[in-house]
Amino acid sequence: MLIDADRSTCVVSSLCVYRAPGVFDQDEDGHVVVVDHEPAPELHESVRRAVRGCPTQSIRITEDD
Ligand code: SF4
Repeated sequence: MLIDADRSTCVVSSLCVYRAPGVFDQDEDGHVVVVDHEPAPELHESVRRAVRGCPTQSIRITEDD
């Protein structure tokens, strides 16, 4: 799994950080920062929940298979 996020459309809701801490963080303005672009398999489901919950579809994932 590869993760990317579009900071230009992020609306600083913080949901992704709550759902997958350690994968997502926020900068000083609150915009999303991906801190782990290739998370371990045990984190994938929480990342998918974060993607589904993002109100602006700002997070993209690419699955390995
Ligand atoms: S859930 Fe979406 S809008 Fe909210 S902080 Fe994360 S990337 Fe930004």
